[in-house]
Order: sequence, then structure tokens, then C-alpha cells
Amino acid sequence: MTKIAENYDIKNDTTFKIGGRIKKAAFPDSVEDFIELLKSNEYDIVLGGCSNVLFSSNDIDKKIIFTKNLKNFSFNQNELYVECGAKGPYISKECANRSLSGFEFLIGFPGSFGGMVCMNASAHNQSISDTFKSARVFDKENNTIIELSKEEMNFSYRNSVIQNKNYIVIDVKFDLIPENSEKINEIMSRNIEFRRLRQPSLSTGNAGSIFKNPQNDSAGRLLDLCDMKSQKEGGAVVFDKHANFILNQNNATSSDVISLMYKMYTKVKEKYTIELHPEIIYIGNKETEEEKLWKKMN
Ligand SMILES: Cc1cc2nc3c(=O)[nH]c(=O)nc-3n(C[C@H](O)[C@H](O)[C@H](O)COP(=O)(O)OP(=O)(O)OC[C@H]3O[C@@H](n4cnc5c(N)ncnc54)[C@H](O)[C@@H]3O)c2cc1C
Repeated sequence: MTKIAENYDIKNDTTFKIGGRIKKAAFPDSVEDFIELLKSNEYDIVLGGCSNVLFSSNDIDKKIIFTKNLKNFSFNQNELYVECGAKGPYISKECANRSLSGFEFLIGFPGSFGGMVCMNASAHNQSISDTFKSARVFDKENNTIIELSKEEMNFSYRNSVIQNKNYIVIDVKFDLIPENSEKINEIMSRNIEFRRLRQPSLSTGNAGSIFKNPQNDSAGRLLDLCDMKSQKEGGAVVFDKHANFILNQNNATSSDVISLMYKMYTKVKEKYTIELHPEIIYIGNKETEEEKLWKKMN
């Protein structure tokens, strides 16, 4: 069964805790229902953990499928099958329990497998592409399901063929690496501690890194050198421990976030002649000023 909601208030489903009402939301609870919805051609976007998105604070004229109920998984020796809505931290623990390495980096952030494959999520010297084997994806253009190998995914930093061809990830297979479980748990504990010390907890709204790293550098390092920590626009503030995070400190709107991003972008451009580009994805119709600033940063 698919739950459908019209005029759906999206704010609390996002890690940023920002967003207005979306025209129509669908929550399929089986892969078969998900495929039916995709084939109907009615929906504009598919979202998983909503941890890399900034929704407009105004009404959003979009129909969106949310995959959060598609979270089945199974293991066949070191091969993992996982549906697109399953969350990284939960699956990384399941892998650790089976002495399988490859997902120690997923312990600290709330992405779904569909979103993480789409964005080629990475951290702590591991990435989704490392152990990726194949994915079943929906090809919107031809209204068919195809299977993509690792080579066909064209993975690169925060990118994959999923973004470029507008494919939808249905489910994925990974080849994980047998490893001593003590070693896996030790790496996971280290990763959690790293995040605890340097990154905001999800109790304050945020969407992870705001800008992509420029080649051979770190957006956080450049923003820090530009004294961006604790800078504010409306209810949005730059995190005081890591300048590539924006916190929704006090009912921030999408305009507050974009204005603050533009301030960050401008400072780095002026000081280092380096242009930062957003990692987060904007959803909805931008207000005139939002549109102007967003365009300059892309
Ligand atoms: C506190 C915090 C820490 C973070 N740390 C990291 C980090 O270390 N490394 C990192 O890489 N990211 C990090 N992120 C960002 C985010 O978690 C990742 O980008 C993740 O890959 C997004 O997954 P999601 O399911 O939330 O995607 P969503 O935000 O739901 O969507 C992101 C994009 O993926 C697309 N998408 C989602 N599901 C599918 C699907 N089934 N098929 C096709 N496209 C789909 C959406 O259309 C959208 O374009 C962090 C975020 C937070 C909040």
C-alpha cells in the first residue's frame, strides 16, 4: 500500500528542518508499489533521507516519492542486497555484526542508499563506489528498469550517472570485504568520535556539508580562513566548529540559508579566487532573490 498525502508539510522530514508544503507526497511500502508509481510518470522527484536537500520555505509545486519505507536487505555471504530507502547507519551495524567491512564510514550520517548511490557519498577514505557491485534503476526516459554495473555508474566525487541521466535507484548490491569484527568496530567508534567532535548533531537542523570541496582543497578549511564560523543570516548560522556546515538555529528559512551561503561563497572568491559550488540540492520554486544568488553559486 502506498500512503498518499496532499499539501504535505515537509519541514520535519528533512534534516535541515526547513521547508513549506509540497503538492503531493507518496510513501510506497514495497518495491513493487514504488515501481508502479515511477511508471505512472506522475512524480517529479524521488527522495530518501532528505539529508542533502534544502526545500523552499514557500509552497512547493512538486509531486515527490519518499523511499523511507523501502528498507529491506539481505546477505548472501559477503554480498549485500539493499533497497533504496534503507539508512546507512543501520546497515553499517548489520555489516559489522557479520564481520563485513566497507561501510564503516556510514555510521555517522543519515543518508539512504538511493541518495548515497546518487551522490556517491564518501567519508573517512571510504566511498559508496568502493564496494558497489550493481543497481537496479528506473530509466524515466524509456519507462523501463535496467541493471547497471559499477563501470556504467561513472562514479566520481559527489557524482554518478544517476544524476546525469535522471535515473532512479530501486535497489543495490554490494560486495563487502570479510574483516575482523573488532577492527571494524574500532574504526566505527573512531568515526563516531570524529563526528562528535567536529560536526553538528542532528538535534540542530543541518544538511551536512554545504559546499563541495574544490579540487585538492577543503571548503571547510577555506571558509574557516575567511572567518565564517558563527556568521549569521536570519535564523541560519555557520557552525562554530566547522565552517562548511550551516545550522538552522532559529526557524531559518530557505532565503536565510541561501543569503548565508552567498556570503560564504563571496568571501572565499574574494580572498582566494576560488568559487565554491553547493553540495546541497534545492527543491521548490526559488524566490527572485534566491534564484539570483543560487545561479551565481552554480
Ligand atoms: C550531519 C550530516 C553529515 C553528513 N555527512 C556526510 C558525509 O560525510 N559524506 C557524504 O557524502 N554526505 C554526507 N552528508 C550528506 C548526505 O547524507 C548524503 O549526501 C547522502 O548521500 C544523501 O542521502 P539521502 O538519502 O538523504 O538523499 P536525499 O537528501 O533524500 O536526496 C539527495 C539526492 O539524491 C537523490 N535521490 C534520493 N534517493 C534516490 C533514489 N532512490 N534514486 C535516485 N536518486 C535519489 C535525490 O533526488 C536528490 O537529488 C551528511 C548529511 C548530514 C545531515
